[in-house]
Amino acid sequence: MSATVPQRIVVLGATGSIGQSTLAVIARHPDRYRVYALAALRQIDLLETQIDQFQPTVVAVVDPLAAETLRTRLRARGVSTEVLTGAAALNTLAQHPDVDTVMAAIVGAAGLPSALAAAEAGKRVLLANKEALVMAGPVFMDAVRRSGAVLLPIDSEHNAIFQSLPADYQGQPDRHGVQHIVLTASGGPFRGCDRSQLTDVTPAQAISHPKWSMGPKISVDSATLMNKGLEVIEAHFLFGLSADRIQVVVHPQSTIHSLVQYVDGSVLAELGDPDMRTPIAHALAWPERIASGVGMLDLVACGQFDFAQPDTDAFPCLALAFEALARGGSAPAVLNAANEVAVAAFLADKISFLAIPEIIRKTLDAIPDTPLTDLASVLAVDALARECAESLLATSA
Ligand code: NAD
Ligand code: MG
Repeated sequence: MSATVPQRIVVLGATGSIGQSTLAVIARHPDRYRVYALAALRQIDLLETQIDQFQPTVVAVVDPLAAETLRTRLRARGVSTEVLTGAAALNTLAQHPDVDTVMAAIVGAAGLPSALAAAEAGKRVLLANKEALVMAGPVFMDAVRRSGAVLLPIDSEHNAIFQSLPADYQGQPDRHGVQHIVLTASGGPFRGCDRSQLTDVTPAQAISHPKWSMGPKISVDSATLMNKGLEVIEAHFLFGLSADRIQVVVHPQSTIHSLVQYVDGSVLAELGDPDMRTPIAHALAWPERIASGVGMLDLVACGQFDFAQPDTDAFPCLALAFEALARGGSAPAVLNAANEVAVAAFLADKISFLAIPEIIRKTLDAIPDTPLTDLASVLAVDALARECAESLLATSA
């Protein structure tokens, strides 16, 4: 895309960790990017600051009360940004004819409809919301193929794989000599702990990630290793690889963001400091390169890289994700829904850390697999799995 015609961008999840990092990169390149719209759930204080800085044409605040408060405040100050509300506004923005690029950075299942709407409208989709692919992989990838949308992964591992694959890869590993891919995992804050040491861990301990600064849900997912499990499923759909060609290795330094192994023995990888502004800048500018604000990697300062096998006994969520992927159909959507319910309950101090995989296990066992044909079928199984997981909470303190 030419530097003289700015890309018009909507940032869905603007107030979150990825949303803020996206705006930090955009702020460095006002000639290349114009923020057409911002969207958030209800964090209007931060959103108002972002409105003042980026002057979007429109914003969406899903919570109606928060939207009304923001509308009143903006009107009082003579700010002309329009305020939409309700979940449907997210789809409106994602498909808006004045928008070229959609950063899909809402957390969880709530981000699926708007990410899919952007894909259906043939937008350039910067996908941070991994749950969308986990829940609706076949439906989502089909929408991308049909509309000709450009799908660029923001998750650092998938962005690293994308960068390490040939430009004309198009989901065809065998044609390009790809043997398998290796996703790296930091191991999270409880790396090295056995099950007995995880009995009493608190939400505060779980969200203090050693390497990455992220929102609370993905931080807990990193602590349980479910984040890596979701990423295995995400990689399956993004890169057209079967589960046996997706490996996971613990790499505590989080400097190698993932690797591609080719049939001739070559291994290509992307390295860098663990800072999401790098994959965000990559996807914003692709196929060009822009400065992200991230410093240059100092290999000597890194010193050494370590690797280990993930411990699926202490962290069964990774194995549960592989199992859901092998089952296929609606199983990954069930896994995702049960995980969201369990993580929210853990963050609210209602269940223990070790109850998270138990609730997911029981929900996966309870809900029969069905094929996913469209968004409605995905949302139906999501609702069913949530109901099941909620009913299990009471017995899983
Ligand atoms: P976060 O909790 O920091 O931010 C979430 C954003 O989504 C906020 O702007 C919030 O207002 C919005 N939101 C939440 N619920 C919503 C709803 N119902 N409707 C509309 N908006 C809603 O989360 P995050 O860490 O930025 O993660 C966002 C997504 O990116 C997640 O899917 C996560 O897995 C993925 N991701 C994050 C990172 C990271 O470093 N933070 C890395 C890779 C992938
Ligand atoms: Mg990741």
